[in-house]
Amino acid sequence: MSGEISRRTFLRGTLAGAVVVAGFDTHLRSWVSAAELEHRATALAEDFPTFDGVLLLDDASRAAAADDFGRLVHRQPLAVLKPGSVDDVVKLVQFARRNNIKVAARGQAHSTQGQAQVEAGVVVDMATLATVHEINPTNALVDGGTRWLDLITETIPQGLTPPTLVDFLELTVGGTVSLGGIGGQAFRFGPNVDNVLELEVVTGRGELVSCSPVHNVELFDAARSGLGQFGLIVRARVRLMPAPPNARLYQAFYSNLTGFLSDLERLIDDGRFDTVQGFAVPDGAGGWLFQLETTKYFSPGQEPDDASLLSGLSFNPGTQSAQDMTYFDYLNRLAPLVAFLRQIGVWAFPHPWVNLFVPAANAQTLIGETLSTLTVDDVGQGPILIYPFNRELFRTPFFRVPDSRHFFIFALLRNAVPPTPERAAQLVAANRTLFERAMMLGGKRYPFDSVPMTRHDWQKHYQPLWGALVSAKRHFDPDGILTPGQGIF
Ligand SMILES: Cc1cc2nc3c(=O)[nH]c(=O)nc-3n(C[C@H](O)[C@H](O)[C@H](O)COP(=O)(O)OP(=O)(O)OC[C@H]3O[C@@H](n4cnc5c(N)ncnc54)[C@H](O)[C@@H]3O)c2cc1C
Repeated sequence: MSGEISRRTFLRGTLAGAVVVAGFDTHLRSWVSAAELEHRATALAEDFPTFDGVLLLDDASRAAAADDFGRLVHRQPLAVLKPGSVDDVVKLVQFARRNNIKVAARGQAHSTQGQAQVEAGVVVDMATLATVHEINPTNALVDGGTRWLDLITETIPQGLTPPTLVDFLELTVGGTVSLGGIGGQAFRFGPNVDNVLELEVVTGRGELVSCSPVHNVELFDAARSGLGQFGLIVRARVRLMPAPPNARLYQAFYSNLTGFLSDLERLIDDGRFDTVQGFAVPDGAGGWLFQLETTKYFSPGQEPDDASLLSGLSFNPGTQSAQDMTYFDYLNRLAPLVAFLRQIGVWAFPHPWVNLFVPAANAQTLIGETLSTLTVDDVGQGPILIYPFNRELFRTPFFRVPDSRHFFIFALLRNAVPPTPERAAQLVAANRTLFERAMMLGGKRYPFDSVPMTRHDWQKHYQPLWGALVSAKRHFDPDGILTPGQGIF
């Protein structure tokens, strides 16, 4: 109920200065606003749906939907739907299908290369469908536009948490489940896509279908890590488990990449910590140090034993530290940094990010080679991630990761500095070079980032599942109207 009220308030808020669509001119293939409607004599589509929410036509709404976190690609849609109900999404997709209009869902647009944009089509802003419907001891039912932050704000006071969480909690459940969803706990519980129990999806056919591991399995397997190609995820039932009260965050630094990578693998094998992550950080002398970041969860009175947890690791002696915080503050640890970056304007810079998965056996080669020439300016002081994962916990077919027992993500989360189109283009070209090297080493791309891809690259990305991908596309989106911004088809 409270979700309904806040949605209405939100919709009212968006209407200031907005132009609402009231019809579709089938002859000119253009939307018609309410003001224009009276002067229009001919050719209005008789089947134009009425929405509980609003379909917006004004420049400001369309410009906002033509932008994303990358600030590199800008594709202007014809209109933006702020759905007031799941039914709105169904009606929009059915209408779009009949009139051959492209459609893409937009979570929080934390893609960096236009993946949630659609030139001359309709963007569905999922933020207006963001209600947490149910919280049970083992799962929660949420709308696709719900942000992880909003979910844990409700579950943690009830002593519950999703097993795996992304580092940055402003991502949406639907957007993350369309990609994969990784964080420091994924080595133990697998990615978000493997912690989803059921989905409700509006397919490209305009049908609302529920799916799970036992019901409409083909759609369940397609929609998870489906990059928006098969349907819009309007609801998800996500797994929950007991939440710990506190986390102790450990950090330690390494000069030696080999020792660092080997400790990361060792830690995900022996499972002594609850989260395991790593970073490359500037050493202050033009090179790189490696930062181990792990946590151990605990209840007051049962503090972890630091000495035994850190024993046998090869970090530089004396560089280790430990800090206690609540579990919520640990999960939301990036919030103060993000607030600062927003304040100084860097959050709005172009972000030509590159995110690559690399088999453990070749991680030293890819990371070592890259860092031997990479400068702090090449990442614009953005972080460099090196996280380890267990392959056996990545079971979603279309989440493409290397076929090796352990693999790493190696991610350059670049800020383009200076924030010019020329600098951003240079960095995108550098991403492409790095991508090609990673592919030679058995790597895969985490495709929300900024790497130009050919159709051949996509075929290789999905092999041996390319045929399955094409067949699922034909089945669930037979007219190919969904999510062209991914550039796959
Ligand atoms: C600052 C930042 C931090 C990040 N941290 C992490 C992290 O810790 N772990 C991680 O795994 N990833 C992370 N990512 C990447 C993130 O997973 C992707 O950006 C992902 O796209 C989710 O973001 P979003 O909800 O804004 O989705 P969007 O970027 O809006 O959408 C992503 C794609 O999914 C489609 N889509 C969106 N919603 C739906 C839906 N409901 N149904 C069907 N398709 C949909 C869109 O059309 C688009 O193609 C991060 C990205 C940024 C920019």
